[in-house]
Amino acid sequence: MAIVGSGPSGFYAAEAMLRSEFSISVDVYEKLPVPYGLVRFGVAPDHYKLKEVTKVFKRIAQMEGFRFLGNVCVGTDIGIDELSACYHAVIFANGAEREKDLGIPGEHLQGSHSAREFVAWYNGHPHYRDQHFDFTHRTAVIIGQGNVALDIARMLVKSQGELKNTDIADYAFEALSKSKIEEVHVIGRRGPMQASFTTKELREFDELGGCTPTALESEIVLNDVSALELETSEDPCVKNNYNYIQKYSKNSRAPNRRECCFRFGHSPLRINGRGSVSSLVLQKNRLKGQAFAQIAVPSKMQSVIDCGLVFRCIGSQADPISGLPYDDQSGVLSNVAGRVTADGRVMAGVYVTGWGKRGSTGTIGTNRGDSVETVDALLADLHLLKNPIYSADYLSKKLHSAGQVIVDFDSWEEIDKEEVLRGIAKQKPRQKITRISDMLALITAQSSVGSRQTPT
Ligand code: FAD
Repeated sequence: MAIVGSGPSGFYAAEAMLRSEFSISVDVYEKLPVPYGLVRFGVAPDHYKLKEVTKVFKRIAQMEGFRFLGNVCVGTDIGIDELSACYHAVIFANGAEREKDLGIPGEHLQGSHSAREFVAWYNGHPHYRDQHFDFTHRTAVIIGQGNVALDIARMLVKSQGELKNTDIADYAFEALSKSKIEEVHVIGRRGPMQASFTTKELREFDELGGCTPTALESEIVLNDVSALELETSEDPCVKNNYNYIQKYSKNSRAPNRRECCFRFGHSPLRINGRGSVSSLVLQKNRLKGQAFAQIAVPSKMQSVIDCGLVFRCIGSQADPISGLPYDDQSGVLSNVAGRVTADGRVMAGVYVTGWGKRGSTGTIGTNRGDSVETVDALLADLHLLKNPIYSADYLSKKLHSAGQVIVDFDSWEEIDKEEVLRGIAKQKPRQKITRISDMLALITAQSSVGSRQTPT
């Protein structure tokens, strides 16, 4: 079987197949020379503990029958048809790499960025390391109220001391150390009841060394329906979040401290600027509808925030893959419980899991159940799968003889070891290598057509 993508869903899908009663070999194709997807390039550097889940992935990579083929982009280096011709089935675990747009004027001015650009930049993603962010302004705005918005806000308001011992990319640390940003607004179109932060992440703002979290009392007054939601919600986050937001609304900004202001009931209407962002126009909303289904209804009231940076943080979609059916509405590969479908009919031997299957929701752990569901579907279909035309080594040999370096798991571990070593000198968990050429330079001494794990 082939898996496209080595984020959590790819690893969990590999695990489910290798643990099954069947004798299955798994090749995991990854476009970057390094594995782990958003665990490496999404999870915030100051949440390093979470990245320990990679120990689980490493154990999966050591299972018999597993092979990692890094530095191979499916759709570019090899075609989907070629891939399908070499395996009984292909599982797409390629994530949701396309940020949703706000669809407002000015969105593409300089200084207006997607969450992905910023997050991938500070996490040292080779494709984003050369992005430029202008931190010379006083105010930044984040549109969206999920945990990714909180990650971005923390990175903008944390002090040098709070970031220096994390695995943040070195160039990002330097740029943020010189930042002039004093004020960050985190804006949601509905109220505090509807924000999708988790309390653990919201509470972190209460413990920051150099930043005061605030909220405007006028924006957190609950209408009757929201009060009912507060009373009856079974999600403990709702009540706990509200307690923190209330607490923050009593704060006032202290001198020489940054401020992170949680704003509610506003939608972005327009980004102004000549060439680059100078302000954001907001439209005030009111809430309408039944409990737990209230929607934001725009009013005529507008306000303006002068700012130089705007981050849109409203979720992402899977990239369409040429030759595979795409559900425009949901931004995922069309599928039923992991079986890819075209015009309502199941495509033989093609499956999807993770963010490319269900959209950008859930935690790292959510991908495990998701991948088990997909693999269960695949295993139930085993008797229907066609034998491949070529052997699984056909592609790697072809790429290798064309001069492409394929990074196997041992080679990734060389890179990993080097990063950890470089980190020790700086009292960081690792100093990431952020250029592909530098990664490959470390490992080119190895031959590499990729070795499969064999019984020990
Ligand atoms: P991804 O992790 O995106 O992996 C997809 C992989 O496919 C990538 O390695 C990519 O390079 C590869 N790929 C893509 N296209 C191709 C191709 N054509 N050929 C080969 N390879 C390809 N969850 C938590 O539990 N805790 C957190 O703190 C947390 N923080 C997050 C912070 C951010 C900013 C984001 C965006 C997400 C965060 N998440 C967090 C969610 C978590 O990261 C996701 O649930 C998870 O990574 C999704 O897994 P995935 O395998 O579907 O996709």
